[in-house]
Amino acid sequence: MLYYSLNHQSPKVNFAEAAVKGQAPDKGLYFPEYIPTLPKGFIENIKTYSKEAIGFTIMQPYVGENIDKNELQRIVTETINFKFPLVRITENIASLELFHGPTLAFKDVGARFMSRCLGYFNRNNKKEVTVLVATSGDTGGAVANGFLGVEGVNVVILYPSKKVSPVQELQLTTLGKNITALEVNGTFDDCQAMVKQAFADTDLNNKLSLTSANSINVARWLPQQLYYFFAYQQWQQNEAPIICVPSGNFGNICAGIVAHISGLPVKHFIAACNANDVVPNYLQTEQYTPKPAVATISNAMDVGNPSNFIRIMQLFNNQFNALKNKLSSVSIDDATTKTTIETVYKNYQYILDPHGAVAYKALEDYLKNDVGQRPTSASGFILETAHPVKFPETVEEVIHQKIAIPESVQYLFNLEKKSITMQPKFEDLKEWLMRR
Ligand SMILES: *Cc1c(COP(=O)(O)O)cnc(C)c1O
Repeated sequence: MLYYSLNHQSPKVNFAEAAVKGQAPDKGLYFPEYIPTLPKGFIENIKTYSKEAIGFTIMQPYVGENIDKNELQRIVTETINFKFPLVRITENIASLELFHGPTLAFKDVGARFMSRCLGYFNRNNKKEVTVLVATSGDTGGAVANGFLGVEGVNVVILYPSKKVSPVQELQLTTLGKNITALEVNGTFDDCQAMVKQAFADTDLNNKLSLTSANSINVARWLPQQLYYFFAYQQWQQNEAPIICVPSGNFGNICAGIVAHISGLPVKHFIAACNANDVVPNYLQTEQYTPKPAVATISNAMDVGNPSNFIRIMQLFNNQFNALKNKLSSVSIDDATTKTTIETVYKNYQYILDPHGAVAYKALEDYLKNDVGQRPTSASGFILETAHPVKFPETVEEVIHQKIAIPESVQYLFNLEKKSITMQPKFEDLKEWLMRR
């Protein structure tokens, strides 16, 4: 398998090079030359496979000869060594809980796979790689945890001071070793701008091997397909599911669409957005108009120009009507998100996080219309992308009670926070990186 740049100005590369580079030299996103077809009988027999076998079967064609088969099996097995339960909330809505990983967010899957791939590709390399990443909360924790202890890789995470929740901050700042947290006296946008400038800076690139760890990287994007298959293993209905994904940069839903094109049965996809409604507007008007992100309570989706949307267009050969037939997108505001958390808790005792709530509302509305047209058994599931305890301010205010801290993260509260504070100035970041 080779990967080409969606800007078409750079040579094709193999999986290893795409993963190490992140982005193509022409600034395009890497895209697989073709979408592999699932082996014959795979879907019919999916319930008989282990998750490890599914993971290997799905990832192998994308990785090709770049990783030895036994090593790839090890990497996949370590990546998915936690639960992915599909939990029923109502008669026709279930929740695929993707928050049982070490940092309680779905990003664990992509981050764990990518970090292990980079560790493997870097195994004989003397020069250290520096992963530089800005986070509004979830990405940083997943990347830090995924890369902890990986030889030859240093991770530097920029996060906005006082703007991440207590659990998120502990996940970023207590690991030590090859992970350093920079606490920026500014906003997420400041952090993002500093990182972007660093990637474009000649002095820094001459001194350090800089790489990014966001969902534009194929090694983080593609393994996100796996839990769509795990969900299908647990799906009990005859009719294929409608899948609703809370979306920001659209990497997660894009991976689901890849899985579907390779053969996974899915009736329809819904991309649920918060007030950042570039894609919902596009599907209405066929006009794609990026705008600056606005802040919401589902802040991991505060994205004004989703970087993976171009990949989704490519998956549908840039055919608007084909895209519209398979994908809907809606925007849900903060007030509705809170009401949804409240109602679902009251009626079903299920605690949604703000991102999951956006998806729940979008799916509920869609099913009402769908069922209205066809009084059959339309049903689907949401991707619950983070544990509610990561957003305690919002959720506890709405459900009027404390959320229990999962046992798996309680140890964090006994660890010491270590961060380096920094003003939101690129020069300060540069000076600090040059001194390392
Ligand atoms: C990152 C994130 C999202 C958005 O995922 P994309 O792949 O960027 O669309 C949704 N929910 C949570 C909790 C996240 O951390």
